[in-house]
Amino acid sequence: MEATHHVHTLVLSQGYKPVKIVPWQRAITLLFLGKVEVIEEYDRNIKTTSVLIKIPAVVRLLNAFRRHKKPVKFSRVNIYGRDDYRCQYCGEGRSINELTYDHVVPRAQGGKTVWSNIVTACTDCNAKKGNRTPAQAGMKLLKQPMQPTATPALVVTVNQQSMPDAWRDYVYWTGELEQN
Ligand SMILES: [Zn+2]
Repeated sequence: MEATHHVHTLVLSQGYKPVKIVPWQRAITLLFLGKVEVIEEYDRNIKTTSVLIKIPAVVRLLNAFRRHKKPVKFSRVNIYGRDDYRCQYCGEGRSINELTYDHVVPRAQGGKTVWSNIVTACTDCNAKKGNRTPAQAGMKLLKQPMQPTATPALVVTVNQQSMPDAWRDYVYWTGELEQN
């Protein structure tokens, strides 16, 4: 059995739509705060300070899920989100561990680490491009990178093999989750 610190809980909106995936500890906190109800449980117990409870597999928010309008944080994962988890050179959609980010104008040529100069790239294209501009490398960008105006929908692709059984009824119709 895998260690419990890897266990995650699927969070559904009031309308039973998947909204995010959180570590189970966070789900317990939400439960104790009265913000969620448990829809599905895993078949294992955890001991809290006073009671033995089952780890929630799927929880549902009791209040409307609000999309906060915050400025988009410049981060690796938000770059991937903006670029739809696709390499901006070959267009391949990849999982997060096969992606990296690329300075369009390399830092060695004065390129900055900003939204407009960073794109998602697969490791192959990143290696092929090296310390060159797209023009120098004979490569073409799918689109010009820009700063997003709102937090991009973070698409979490759920691996069908490793997805907990308890989630299946809730994610099957999309196969992917939007998280913000
Ligand atoms: Zn690529």
